[in-house]
Amino acid sequence: MYGKGILEGLLVTLKHFFGTFIDDIRKGRKRYMTDEGVEYRRSKDVKGIFTVQYPEERLPTPENFRFVPFLVYDEKEDGTNEIRCTSCGICAKVCPPQCIWIEQTTNPKTGRPVPEPVKFFIDIDICMNCGFCADFCPFDSIKMDHYYEMASFDRTKTNILDLTKLSKPASYHAEIHPIHFAREEEIRRVKEQKREERRLAKEQRLNKFKSE
Ligand code: SF4
Ligand code: SF4
Repeated sequence: MYGKGILEGLLVTLKHFFGTFIDDIRKGRKRYMTDEGVEYRRSKDVKGIFTVQYPEERLPTPENFRFVPFLVYDEKEDGTNEIRCTSCGICAKVCPPQCIWIEQTTNPKTGRPVPEPVKFFIDIDICMNCGFCADFCPFDSIKMDHYYEMASFDRTKTNILDLTKLSKPASYHAEIHPIHFAREEEIRRVKEQKREERRLAKEQRLNKFKSE
């Protein structure tokens, strides 16, 4: 029948419309503004309304969600922060729209480059959220953020992120990427262990050589 598809579509909408009232009576306000309610409305068993009432409600962000990148720094025991970035420039090279600018630190006495950025900018209006920078960084220094509420009226003042705005602690990275963080830490631990084993073996060889 001509128009049958449209009619069926409208009936689905109508079913959800009335289902909302029935579900509201049955479940009360529990299905709004609660994690349980959001979880129910995004499930396949939902009967009435299934939309999320943003910004009062938010969907949970999956670990692999990516918005704009941020730079990771480690909080040392002596209270100082150490940025992981070595300003190698790999992220800037692989960035498809070329929205990363890095300037390397220079030792004022020797004039030689220091493996640390003195300036680091990302234009988030150009960033296409591909995550290449995070994937290619050899030092786990740049990661993709979950924070997406960055709308503003003046892009020149707010949308070009500098080193201060980009830097976030490793604990934040661990919080939003628990699986990835645990994997990275395990790889780091194994590398450290191997390095220590090699050092001990070298020391033993040296001691043996000296005693002969
Ligand atoms: S974020 Fe990583 S890839 Fe980019 S410059 Fe720093 S160390 Fe190199
Ligand atoms: S996410 Fe992609 S586009 Fe954005 S800065 Fe990284 S490499 Fe460039």
